[in-house]
Order: sequence, then structure tokens, then C-alpha cells
Amino acid sequence: MTRLDPFLTQALARIDTAGQRRTLRPAHLEAAGRIVREGRILVDFSSNDYLGLARHPELSARAIAWTQRLGTGSGASRLVTGTSAEQLALEARIARFKHTEAALVFASGWQANATVIPALLAAVPGCMVFTDRLIHASMHAGLASAGVRQVRFRHNDLDHLDTLLESKGREAPARLILTESVFSMDGDRADLARLADIAQRHEAALYVDEAHATGVLGPGGAGLTGDVPGRIDLVMGTFSKALGGFGAYVAGSRVLIDYLVNAASGFIFTTAPPPAVLGAIDAALDLVPSMDAERTHLADLGERLREGLGALGLDCGASSTQIVPAVIGPEAETLALSARLDAAGFLVSAIRPPTVPPGSSRLRIALRAAHSPDDIDALLTALKDAL
Ligand code: PMP
Repeated sequence: MTRLDPFLTQALARIDTAGQRRTLRPAHLEAAGRIVREGRILVDFSSNDYLGLARHPELSARAIAWTQRLGTGSGASRLVTGTSAEQLALEARIARFKHTEAALVFASGWQANATVIPALLAAVPGCMVFTDRLIHASMHAGLASAGVRQVRFRHNDLDHLDTLLESKGREAPARLILTESVFSMDGDRADLARLADIAQRHEAALYVDEAHATGVLGPGGAGLTGDVPGRIDLVMGTFSKALGGFGAYVAGSRVLIDYLVNAASGFIFTTAPPPAVLGAIDAALDLVPSMDAERTHLADLGERLREGLGALGLDCGASSTQIVPAVIGPEAETLALSARLDAAGFLVSAIRPPTVPPGSSRLRIALRAAHSPDDIDALLTALKDAL
């Protein structure tokens, strides 16, 4: 019992009453699109290991090789003694992959967004920030710690953004637009070419989170920003999803990266990533450019699933990627469906507020390249029964 426990117990009771209490349940990824959860093997439609790289032998082999050569820990933060030659070479590789001048690795995507955004805003006092309504919590964390007010535009509504840029902050020293290329809970895409045109016309800077596009979309899996090279000021993405590992990158101009090395707290005050993590990323970057067959297969599975969900009368929103929501609405109903699917052998996450707006609870179906068309059909049958 600690002194804070009575307060925490009350806070938990409030979460409970709101029906929003979460608990941790043990699970680990298997190959072939399966997951072991609490001892049961389920077809995994929940994790973000889209390309199956988290169980790829080349990633584990390189993680082990780099560990044996360089150790289990990096020993210090990057600016102290934690920068290995391998780390610098890897960042040069990431910059080539993203067609930018430079790149910087962060310990996680959350840490990148939460600390890069305030670092940027510290350099530009009075910068006005325009955000898509559905940007990830980590970007909100960055904005909150910067203490800036954001101007929100309706999700993926670029006419709305255009109008707001026309009327707001024209006197500001700079304006910054934050969005995602693939939205994590909706699986729809931002129109980056049009966004870049709008940003250019209004002389605004553009920050794009490619967490769910990296590896899966764009030329050679380089993400959707790969379709608009040189037109995005800052691209971030993660190694924790399609790349099967851990950590994140920020890619952009040399000046941007040099500045972040000197200003992003989540870079400066944290220990450098361990060799195992870097080795796995290095191996993933060897494989990803040539995984077009997996990317096409994922796209086909997405089409098949959306068609099937449509036939069941379910709303998939504007999904056009490997993330397919089936929007149910009420939380309790969504949780009940997820539980019935679990009983039938399918792990499909129920996503509810505060992760998504109230009234839009959904099953978030995440596809893995290891799934077969039969897996999709079996899921659809189970969902039909569950409904
Ligand atoms: N951005 C988006 C859009 C995400 O979905 C996530 C992961 N949920 C992150 C950032 C955070 O990345 P990480 O899991 O590597 O911290």
C-alpha cells in the first residue's frame, strides 16, 4: 500500500464505471499470421506485424549477430558515448530509403512525436499548428508539452484545411501541418500530393507520420511520402509495425536532423537503442524493398475483406489499406463481438474511446501478409455468426 493508492483506487473505479478499464493479457506473435494468447493459438487480426518480419529468421539472426559483436546495451545516450558506427550507417540508409538528406533514429514512435514536435515549436515562437482531427495520441502529447493551441481540420478534409490556412495565422512566423499518411484506426490515406500543393501555396511546413505506411505502401515500401519525394518537410515512421522491430525514424533535411540532435529531449536524454534493435532494423531494410509480392497480397486481402464486410452490412469507412475497421458504434456491442470472435479463434481488437471518438467503437482488423484468402473468408463467416 502506497500513500497514493487510495487516490489511484478511486481513479480506477471511475475508469471501471465508465466501462473503460483495460487489463494486460499475455500474447506473442507466431509466424503464419497466428498469435498465441493466454495459451491459445488464434488467427491474428490485431497486431501490426503486417509483413511478418517480426518472426523473420534474418531479423533475429542479425539481432543476435550485432548483440554478440556489440553487446546487449549501448551504454549511454547518443551524444555521450552511445553512437555506434553501425547506428550512423543505418541512419544514412534510412535517409536513402526515404529520399531525404538525413535521418535520425528514436527509441519509439511515441517518443519521436512527443518530443520532436515541441523541439520544432521551440525554434519557431508563434508558429501556428494545423492538425487533422484524427492524428495519433503521441502527436497530441507533443503539442500539449509545447503548450500550443492547434487549429484542427476535419479528418482528411483538405478543402477545410485550405480554408483555415486562408484565414488563420497568416501573420504567424511559420505554420505547420500535422497529419498521418495512413490513419491507424481507419486505414484510410491522406492525399499527400494535394496536401503538399496546399502547403506550398500557403507556405506552410508539412509533418507526416508514416507509422502504418512504412514497409507496406509506396515505391519499394518506402511509404506514401515516397510518391511525393522532396515535398514533405518532416517524415516520421516506425520500425515497430511492418518492419517487425522497434523504434522510429525522423527523416528530412540535414539542418532539421542537426537541430533535433541538439533539441529533441526524447533523443538527448535517453540511452541509444541497443545493437539487437538496430541489427533487426538493418535486416528489415534489406528485405522490405523487394517485398512487392507481400504488398500486393496485402492489398488483395484488404479488397476481399472490405467486400465481405460490405456484404454483411458493415461500415469500413474510407479504408483502402491493410487496416480495415468495421465500425459498430456502441462500445458494449463492439466488445461483445470481439469476444465472440475470440471464442471462434480470431483475435480482432475492439477499439473504443478514448482511442477513437465516442460512438465510433470498432473492430480494427489488421491484415498480415501471412494471411490467406481462406483466413479472410473464415473470419467473415465467424463475424456473420457473431453478428
Ligand atoms: N504514430 C502512429 C500513427 C501510431 O499508430 C503509433 C503506434 N501506435 C505511433 C506513432 C507510436 O509508435 P511506437 O509504437 O513505435 O511508439
